[in-house]
Amino acid sequence: MFTIKNYVMANTIEDAYRLLQEGKSNAILGGCAFLKLGAKRIGTAIDLSKLNLDQINETEDTIEIGAMTSFRAVETNEALNKYFNGVLPRSVASIIGIQFRSAVTVGASVYSRYGFSDFITALLVLDTEVELFKSGRIPLDQFLQDGAPRDILTKLVIKKSDIKASYQMMRNSAVDYPILNVAISKGAAGWKIAVGARPQRAALAMKAAKLLDSGEPKDADIEAAVNTAVEELTFGSNSRGSKVYREAIAKGLIARGIREVL
Ligand SMILES: Cc1cc2nc3c(=O)[nH]c(=O)nc-3n(C[C@H](O)[C@H](O)[C@H](O)COP(=O)(O)OP(=O)(O)OC[C@H]3O[C@@H](n4cnc5c(N)ncnc54)[C@H](O)[C@@H]3O)c2cc1C
Repeated sequence: MFTIKNYVMANTIEDAYRLLQEGKSNAILGGCAFLKLGAKRIGTAIDLSKLNLDQINETEDTIEIGAMTSFRAVETNEALNKYFNGVLPRSVASIIGIQFRSAVTVGASVYSRYGFSDFITALLVLDTEVELFKSGRIPLDQFLQDGAPRDILTKLVIKKSDIKASYQMMRNSAVDYPILNVAISKGAAGWKIAVGARPQRAALAMKAAKLLDSGEPKDADIEAAVNTAVEELTFGSNSRGSKVYREAIAKGLIARGIREVL
């Protein structure tokens, strides 16, 4: 269990950021589910609960999801269910149970760049930017590569569009971490294929997606895209599944996702 020396409810995001910089052991609190798994000794724990960051706002061009929004709010939000075939609500719906999803937060989940994350894989096939207090707005794929040390994620900004999307995953049992997860999308800019829990963090299969871009893909195009995706991404082994098993599952889930989008 983690320990906390001082607890501060931040009144402004500027205060939260200043406190975070004041000591290496200071930390932002999300829903604390993941923090509870570890033994971190937190100097000052910084609570963002009063900063109005638990909102999902639809603007003319975007949907913005505040960092303190729970996965349950993502799952039940009307706009997120309306756009992109509800790919974001679908991606979180299998994580443990409703009580758990009511506590865990979007900001912690994305900032931590967990390899197993269901949510990140789905976000990656949309036009998603991450807003950080210090680093500003950056595309999600860039954030996943570079991170943003000792910053605070304030919100996600997703461009609205008529993107069609699908989410697929495989778990050993209903409440376990995913062995593999896949999201597929097709929009005006073409196809996107994201594969996560490889067990490395989600990445886009760019070459494979390009193979789908010339007209309506036929069975042979789908097969070529599936094989290319497995070649261009790296897969590994852990207690949930071997590299070979993951590669085999990836082929099935990617093909299923492409067909669902079609
Ligand atoms: C038992 C268990 C099973 C899980 N299974 C799955 C699963 O199957 N699929 C899946 O996708 N996820 C799974 N998760 C992860 C979960 O969905 C959350 O992503 C995770 O718990 C982090 O959210 P939190 O709100 O609990 O973060 P916390 O535990 O509060 O924080 C996690 C880290 O993020 C930092 N942090 C928090 N908020 C911010 C912020 N706004 N800016 C910067 N840093 C911040 C904290 O300082 C901390 O280092 C699981 C988690 C647990 C504990």
